[in-house]
Amino acid sequence: MTPPEFDWSAVGPGEKVSASLPVGSVTLPVLAVRGTRPGKTLLVSAGVHGDEHEGIRTIFDTFSALDPAQMTGNFLAVPVANPPAFWNGTRTSPLDDGNLARVFPGDPDGSPTQAIAWAFDQRLLPLADFYLDLHSGGVKFLMPTMVGYHEQDAPARLAADAFGAPVIWCHPAIAPGRTVSAAGARGIPCLYAEARGAGRIHPDDLAVYRRGVARLLQHLAILPGVPEPIPPQLRLHGDGNIDGGVTATQPGFLLPEVELLQWVERGQRFGRLLDIWGRQIDEFFAPRSGVVVLIHACPMVQPGEPLFLVTDVQP
Ligand SMILES: [Zn+2]
Repeated sequence: MTPPEFDWSAVGPGEKVSASLPVGSVTLPVLAVRGTRPGKTLLVSAGVHGDEHEGIRTIFDTFSALDPAQMTGNFLAVPVANPPAFWNGTRTSPLDDGNLARVFPGDPDGSPTQAIAWAFDQRLLPLADFYLDLHSGGVKFLMPTMVGYHEQDAPARLAADAFGAPVIWCHPAIAPGRTVSAAGARGIPCLYAEARGAGRIHPDDLAVYRRGVARLLQHLAILPGVPEPIPPQLRLHGDGNIDGGVTATQPGFLLPEVELLQWVERGQRFGRLLDIWGRQIDEFFAPRSGVVVLIHACPMVQPGEPLFLVTDVQP
Protein backbone atom coordinates (compact mmCIF):
# COMPACT_ATOMS: atom_id res chain seq x y z
CA MET A 1 0.00 0.00 0.00
CA THR A 2 1.61 3.24 -1.15
CA PRO A 3 1.31 6.17 1.32
CA PRO A 4 -0.48 9.35 0.14
CA GLU A 5 1.29 11.94 -1.97
CA PHE A 6 3.69 14.22 -0.12
CA ASP A 7 2.28 17.66 0.72
CA TRP A 8 4.37 19.44 3.33
CA SER A 9 1.81 22.23 3.77
CA ALA A 10 -0.78 19.63 4.84
CA VAL A 11 1.43 18.22 7.64
CA GLY A 12 0.26 19.91 10.83
CA PRO A 13 2.22 20.66 14.03
CA GLY A 14 2.91 17.46 15.95
CA GLU A 15 2.31 15.20 12.94
CA LYS A 16 4.49 12.37 11.74
CA VAL A 17 3.77 11.31 8.16
CA SER A 18 4.92 8.69 5.65
CA ALA A 19 4.35 9.99 2.12
CA SER A 20 5.12 9.32 -1.53
CA LEU A 21 6.65 11.58 -4.11
CA PRO A 22 5.90 10.18 -7.58
CA VAL A 23 8.56 10.86 -10.23
CA GLY A 24 7.41 9.28 -13.50
CA SER A 25 7.35 5.52 -12.96
CA VAL A 26 9.39 5.83 -9.72
CA THR A 27 7.94 6.57 -6.25
CA LEU A 28 10.21 8.28 -3.73
CA PRO A 29 9.51 7.54 -0.05
CA VAL A 30 9.29 10.68 2.11
CA LEU A 31 9.21 10.67 5.94
CA ALA A 32 8.16 13.92 7.58
CA VAL A 33 7.90 15.06 11.19
CA ARG A 34 6.61 18.54 12.02
CA GLY A 35 7.47 19.55 15.56
CA THR A 36 4.82 21.03 17.80
CA ARG A 37 6.77 24.33 17.73
CA PRO A 38 8.07 26.02 14.53
CA GLY A 39 11.81 26.02 13.88
CA LYS A 40 14.39 24.89 11.37
CA THR A 41 13.95 21.96 8.99
CA LEU A 42 16.63 19.30 8.65
CA LEU A 43 16.42 17.37 5.37
CA VAL A 44 18.22 14.01 5.30
CA SER A 45 18.66 11.68 2.34
CA ALA A 46 20.09 8.18 2.00
CA GLY A 47 20.22 5.59 -0.74
CA VAL A 48 21.36 8.11 -3.34
CA HIS A 49 23.56 5.15 -4.23
CA GLY A 50 21.39 2.05 -4.11
CA ASP A 51 23.86 -0.24 -2.33
CA GLU A 52 24.56 2.06 0.66
CA HIS A 53 22.35 0.87 3.50
CA GLU A 54 23.67 2.58 6.68
CA GLY A 55 21.89 5.88 6.05
CA ILE A 56 18.62 4.17 5.10
CA ARG A 57 18.54 2.31 8.42
CA THR A 58 19.55 5.52 10.27
CA ILE A 59 16.59 7.42 8.78
CA PHE A 60 14.15 4.59 9.62
CA ASP A 61 15.42 4.46 13.21
CA THR A 62 15.46 8.25 13.63
CA PHE A 63 11.96 8.70 12.20
CA SER A 64 10.66 6.00 14.50
CA ALA A 65 12.36 7.52 17.58
CA LEU A 66 11.44 11.19 17.06
CA ASP A 67 8.73 12.66 19.26
CA PRO A 68 7.18 15.78 17.67
CA ALA A 69 6.30 17.10 21.14
CA GLN A 70 10.06 17.38 21.81
CA MET A 71 10.75 19.22 18.55
CA THR A 72 11.11 22.92 17.74
CA GLY A 73 11.33 22.48 13.99
CA ASN A 74 11.09 19.64 11.54
CA PHE A 75 12.67 16.46 10.21
CA LEU A 76 12.21 15.61 6.55
CA ALA A 77 13.84 12.54 5.01
CA VAL A 78 14.09 10.50 1.85
CA PRO A 79 15.43 7.14 3.06
CA VAL A 80 15.77 5.58 -0.40
CA ALA A 81 16.56 8.34 -2.89
CA ASN A 82 17.05 6.05 -5.91
CA PRO A 83 14.61 3.13 -5.44
CA PRO A 84 15.42 1.34 -8.73
CA ALA A 85 19.13 1.26 -7.75
CA PHE A 86 18.21 0.10 -4.22
CA TRP A 87 16.05 -2.79 -5.45
CA ASN A 88 18.78 -3.74 -7.90
CA GLY A 89 21.40 -3.71 -5.11
CA THR A 90 23.65 -1.43 -7.13
CA ARG A 91 25.22 2.01 -6.85
CA THR A 92 23.57 3.17 -10.09
CA SER A 93 20.09 2.69 -11.53
CA PRO A 94 19.37 -0.31 -13.78
CA LEU A 95 16.87 1.86 -15.69
CA ASP A 96 19.42 4.25 -17.18
CA ASP A 97 22.78 3.41 -15.56
CA GLY A 98 22.33 6.77 -13.82
CA ASN A 99 24.45 7.82 -10.83
CA LEU A 100 22.12 10.07 -8.82
CA ALA A 101 25.14 11.79 -7.25
CA ARG A 102 26.37 12.97 -10.67
CA VAL A 103 23.23 14.35 -12.36
CA PHE A 104 22.01 17.18 -10.10
CA PRO A 105 20.16 19.51 -10.58
CA GLY A 106 18.56 16.99 -12.94
CA ASP A 107 16.06 17.27 -15.75
CA PRO A 108 12.27 16.76 -15.55
CA ASP A 109 12.24 15.40 -19.10
CA GLY A 110 15.44 13.38 -18.77
CA SER A 111 16.13 9.78 -17.79
CA PRO A 112 14.55 8.34 -14.60
CA THR A 113 17.64 9.22 -12.52
CA GLN A 114 17.75 12.77 -13.92
CA ALA A 115 14.04 13.16 -13.16
CA ILE A 116 14.58 12.03 -9.53
CA ALA A 117 17.35 14.63 -9.15
CA TRP A 118 15.05 17.31 -10.55
CA ALA A 119 12.20 16.37 -8.19
CA PHE A 120 14.53 16.29 -5.18
CA ASP A 121 16.06 19.65 -6.12
CA GLN A 122 12.73 21.36 -6.85
CA ARG A 123 10.39 19.79 -4.30
CA LEU A 124 12.52 18.92 -1.25
CA LEU A 125 15.74 20.97 -1.09
CA PRO A 126 13.87 24.33 -0.96
CA LEU A 127 12.15 23.14 2.25
CA ALA A 128 15.48 22.63 4.05
CA ASP A 129 17.39 24.95 6.38
CA PHE A 130 20.13 22.31 6.53
CA TYR A 131 20.74 19.25 4.38
CA LEU A 132 22.53 15.98 5.24
CA ASP A 133 23.23 13.27 2.65
CA LEU A 134 24.16 9.88 4.12
CA HIS A 135 26.42 7.72 1.94
CA SER A 136 28.85 4.85 2.58
CA GLY A 137 31.33 2.62 0.85
CA GLY A 138 28.37 0.52 -0.30
CA VAL A 139 28.86 -3.05 -1.42
CA LYS A 140 32.13 -2.51 -3.27
CA PHE A 141 34.12 0.10 -1.38
CA LEU A 142 35.63 0.64 2.04
CA MET A 143 35.64 4.24 3.31
CA PRO A 144 36.31 5.96 6.65
CA THR A 145 33.31 6.74 8.84
CA MET A 146 33.24 10.49 8.41
CA VAL A 147 31.45 13.69 7.53
CA GLY A 148 32.53 16.03 4.73
CA TYR A 149 31.77 19.63 3.88
CA HIS A 150 32.75 22.48 1.57
CA GLU A 151 35.44 24.77 2.98
CA GLN A 152 33.39 27.92 2.22
CA ASP A 153 30.30 26.59 4.00
CA ALA A 154 30.81 28.03 7.51
CA PRO A 155 27.58 26.65 9.05
CA ALA A 156 28.53 23.21 7.70
CA ARG A 157 31.92 23.38 9.42
CA LEU A 158 30.24 23.90 12.80
CA ALA A 159 27.69 21.18 12.01
CA ALA A 160 30.49 18.78 11.04
CA ASP A 161 32.01 19.19 14.49
CA ALA A 162 28.58 18.78 16.10
CA PHE A 163 27.91 15.51 14.19
CA GLY A 164 30.73 13.84 16.12
CA ALA A 165 32.18 11.53 13.42
CA PRO A 166 35.66 10.04 13.94
CA VAL A 167 36.93 11.67 10.71
CA ILE A 168 36.06 15.12 9.32
CA TRP A 169 36.96 15.93 5.74
CA CYS A 170 37.09 19.54 4.50
CA HIS A 171 36.88 19.95 0.71
CA PRO A 172 38.22 23.06 -1.06
CA ALA A 173 35.78 22.27 -3.88
CA ILE A 174 32.78 20.04 -4.48
CA ALA A 175 32.41 18.60 -7.99
CA PRO A 176 29.19 19.48 -9.84
CA GLY A 177 26.24 17.10 -10.10
CA ARG A 178 26.19 16.11 -6.42
CA THR A 179 23.26 16.43 -4.05
CA VAL A 180 25.48 18.65 -1.92
CA SER A 181 26.47 20.85 -4.88
CA ALA A 182 22.75 21.36 -5.62
CA ALA A 183 22.18 22.34 -1.98
CA GLY A 184 25.21 24.65 -2.15
CA ALA A 185 23.79 26.30 -5.29
CA ARG A 186 20.63 27.07 -3.30
CA GLY A 187 22.67 28.48 -0.41
CA ILE A 188 21.57 25.66 1.90
CA PRO A 189 24.35 24.58 4.28
CA CYS A 190 25.01 20.87 3.96
CA LEU A 191 27.06 17.90 5.08
CA TYR A 192 27.51 14.47 3.62
CA ALA A 193 28.61 11.39 5.51
CA GLU A 194 30.44 8.20 4.60
CA ALA A 195 30.66 4.92 6.49
CA ARG A 196 32.75 1.80 6.00
CA GLY A 197 30.35 -0.03 3.71
CA ALA A 198 32.07 -3.08 2.24
CA GLY A 199 28.68 -4.75 1.88
CA ARG A 200 27.35 -4.53 5.42
CA ILE A 201 25.97 -2.16 8.07
CA HIS A 202 28.71 -2.12 10.69
CA PRO A 203 27.01 -1.66 14.11
CA ASP A 204 29.56 1.00 15.14
CA ASP A 205 28.79 2.99 11.99
CA LEU A 206 25.05 2.77 12.59
CA ALA A 207 25.66 4.09 16.12
CA VAL A 208 27.77 7.00 14.80
CA TYR A 209 25.13 7.88 12.19
CA ARG A 210 22.17 7.69 14.58
CA ARG A 211 24.00 9.71 17.21
CA GLY A 212 25.22 12.15 14.53
CA VAL A 213 21.71 12.89 13.24
CA ALA A 214 20.41 13.36 16.80
CA ARG A 215 23.34 15.69 17.58
CA LEU A 216 22.73 17.62 14.36
CA LEU A 217 19.06 18.04 15.36
CA GLN A 218 20.29 19.44 18.71
CA HIS A 219 22.84 21.66 16.97
CA LEU A 220 20.02 23.12 14.84
CA ALA A 221 17.92 23.58 18.04
CA ILE A 222 15.26 21.23 16.64
CA LEU A 223 15.81 18.86 19.58
CA PRO A 224 16.56 20.16 23.09
CA GLY A 225 20.04 19.95 24.54
CA VAL A 226 23.54 20.87 23.45
CA PRO A 227 25.77 18.11 22.06
CA GLU A 228 28.92 17.55 24.12
CA PRO A 229 32.01 18.05 21.94
CA ILE A 230 33.48 14.84 20.47
CA PRO A 231 36.91 15.70 19.04
CA PRO A 232 37.55 13.86 15.74
CA GLN A 233 40.43 11.40 15.55
CA LEU A 234 41.52 12.84 12.20
CA ARG A 235 40.86 15.90 10.06
CA LEU A 236 41.38 15.56 6.32
CA HIS A 237 41.66 18.25 3.69
CA GLY A 238 41.45 17.83 -0.06
CA ASP A 239 39.54 16.62 -3.05
CA GLY A 240 36.89 14.01 -2.27
CA ASN A 241 36.02 13.08 -5.82
CA ILE A 242 36.39 9.30 -5.99
CA ASP A 243 36.18 9.57 -9.78
CA GLY A 244 39.71 11.04 -9.49
CA GLY A 245 41.26 8.04 -7.75
CA VAL A 246 43.36 5.19 -9.16
CA THR A 247 41.05 3.32 -11.51
CA ALA A 248 40.98 -0.23 -12.89
CA THR A 249 41.59 -0.48 -16.62
CA GLN A 250 40.76 -4.19 -16.86
CA PRO A 251 38.79 -6.78 -14.91
CA GLY A 252 40.57 -8.80 -12.26
CA PHE A 253 40.96 -9.98 -8.68
CA LEU A 254 42.38 -7.28 -6.39
CA LEU A 255 44.96 -7.80 -3.65
CA PRO A 256 45.17 -4.51 -1.68
CA GLU A 257 48.42 -3.92 0.23
CA VAL A 258 47.33 -0.83 2.15
CA GLU A 259 44.78 -0.15 4.87
CA LEU A 260 42.18 2.55 5.28
CA LEU A 261 43.57 5.80 6.75
CA GLN A 262 47.15 4.52 6.34
CA TRP A 263 49.72 7.13 5.30
CA VAL A 264 51.33 6.22 1.94
CA GLU A 265 54.32 7.76 0.21
CA ARG A 266 54.18 8.73 -3.46
CA GLY A 267 55.07 5.66 -5.53
CA GLN A 268 54.23 3.20 -2.75
CA ARG A 269 52.40 0.14 -4.05
CA PHE A 270 48.66 0.13 -3.35
CA GLY A 271 48.11 -3.43 -4.50
CA ARG A 272 48.12 -5.95 -7.34
CA LEU A 273 45.54 -7.24 -9.81
CA LEU A 274 45.40 -10.93 -10.73
CA ASP A 275 43.58 -12.79 -13.49
CA ILE A 276 41.40 -15.80 -12.69
CA TRP A 277 44.46 -18.05 -12.94
CA GLY A 278 46.04 -16.02 -10.11
CA ARG A 279 48.64 -14.44 -12.41
CA GLN A 280 49.55 -10.77 -11.89
CA ILE A 281 48.17 -8.57 -14.69
CA ASP A 282 48.53 -5.11 -13.17
CA GLU A 283 49.86 -3.25 -10.13
CA PHE A 284 48.90 0.12 -8.69
CA PHE A 285 51.01 2.83 -7.06
CA ALA A 286 50.19 5.93 -5.04
CA PRO A 287 50.23 8.93 -7.43
CA ARG A 288 51.04 11.17 -4.44
CA SER A 289 51.71 10.96 -0.73
CA GLY A 290 48.70 11.10 1.59
CA VAL A 291 46.13 9.21 3.60
CA VAL A 292 44.20 6.30 2.03
CA VAL A 293 40.51 7.21 2.09
CA LEU A 294 39.07 4.61 -0.29
CA ILE A 295 39.86 0.99 -1.05
CA HIS A 296 37.95 -1.24 -3.45
CA ALA A 297 36.79 -3.80 -0.84
CA CYS A 298 35.29 -6.37 -3.20
CA PRO A 299 38.11 -8.46 -4.71
CA MET A 300 36.38 -8.62 -8.10
CA VAL A 301 36.97 -5.38 -9.98
CA GLN A 302 35.61 -4.13 -13.29
CA PRO A 303 37.23 -1.66 -15.70
CA GLY A 304 36.54 1.96 -14.76
CA GLU A 305 35.99 1.27 -11.06
CA PRO A 306 37.94 3.36 -8.52
CA LEU A 307 40.38 1.19 -6.55
CA PHE A 308 42.26 3.59 -4.26
CA LEU A 309 42.09 7.27 -3.32
CA VAL A 310 44.42 9.36 -1.16
CA THR A 311 43.94 12.82 0.32
CA ASP A 312 45.78 15.19 2.68
CA VAL A 313 45.69 15.58 6.41
CA GLN A 314 44.42 19.01 7.47
CA PRO A 315 47.58 21.09 8.14
ZN1 LIG B 1 27.41 7.09 -2.11
